[in-house]
Amino acid sequence: MSRVYNFSAGPAMLPEPVLQQAQAELPAWQSSGMSVMEMSHRGKEFIAIAEQAEADLRELLAIPTNYKVLFLQGGASLQFAMVPLNLLRGGNEADYLNTGLWSKKAVAEAKKYCQVHLAINAEPNNFTTLPAYDSSKLNPYAAYVHYTPNETINGLEFHTIPDVGDKPLVADMSSTILSRPLDVSKYGLIYAGAQKNIGPAGLTIVIVREDLTDNAMPGTPTMLMYKTHLDNQSMYNTPPTYAWYIAGLVFKWLKDQGGLAAMGERNQRKAAMLYAAIDQSEFYGNPVALPYRSWMNVPFTIKNPDLEKTFLAEAKTAGLVSLAGHRSVGGMRASIYNAMPEAGVQALIEFMNDFAKRNG
Ligand code: PMP
Repeated sequence: MSRVYNFSAGPAMLPEPVLQQAQAELPAWQSSGMSVMEMSHRGKEFIAIAEQAEADLRELLAIPTNYKVLFLQGGASLQFAMVPLNLLRGGNEADYLNTGLWSKKAVAEAKKYCQVHLAINAEPNNFTTLPAYDSSKLNPYAAYVHYTPNETINGLEFHTIPDVGDKPLVADMSSTILSRPLDVSKYGLIYAGAQKNIGPAGLTIVIVREDLTDNAMPGTPTMLMYKTHLDNQSMYNTPPTYAWYIAGLVFKWLKDQGGLAAMGERNQRKAAMLYAAIDQSEFYGNPVALPYRSWMNVPFTIKNPDLEKTFLAEAKTAGLVSLAGHRSVGGMRASIYNAMPEAGVQALIEFMNDFAKRNG
């Protein structure tokens, strides 16, 4: 069976060794005589799988002991609501850095619960650069500061952590978590949908500083309180067991690859190659300011947009799929998460050069 290079923004490519191990273990996991999908989440086999996955994630990210890891559902989108419900802690104001279409969605949801102050707003420049930021832009009454380190649609990324003084910093890391080393202690809370750099869709990971979890807004549904999940080892209700297991295989694979330092070097190299190919051509363009270009999601356009359809169709025939930009912005986008090998980026560049030669 031949596999394509899948540039989808998510659900995205998974490492082939992970898929092979899952295939080998599909009908019966170790000596259990059953598939992981069929196991009780409270049985000793699944508890062992779950605990190992958490231990490996903690090791990869060097998560300090006062941070808890939650394996939840509802996607990053549910975190847009859970964050204000749990982190306002009696306050009524929060700061948001508005840097792309995902930040905007987080802002819209937070506005249901509190006053939102935009510490920076990149919308006037169409989310192509990050406005100057320092902590003096923050509202002193804000209960927390939320930002999106990597904007999946716009391809705009922070390469440094914003200074927020002693306020809890909350990050939607859906499309950048595990792509490089991270100093978790700089954050109050990190969340990420799994379907890009962690595993299959259906799982959402939250890493939260324990002291932020016990003051949810009155009336918050039980399932939306971090404390519920913290007190029940993410098993208050039935967790997404199979996605949790696959995430565990991905964490093992990352460790085998040399951990996040090795992934960071590889990801930086992949992105640099692709941006160089775009910048060196007269044929393609990328609108994002150089210092803020994403390592994970590389949007690009063809100067003659009439050629986009042909580009996408021919790329597909060449085994390079899911290169269409997000429906809200159009153009093309190559998502090059951890599981995309350097050979896949190389194949895309060769195709792009050849297409430009034939159509330029
Ligand atoms: N935030 C970011 C940065 C994303 O990239 C996405 C998904 N593309 C979301 C939030 C929404 O995630 P979900 O579909 O898991 O709710």
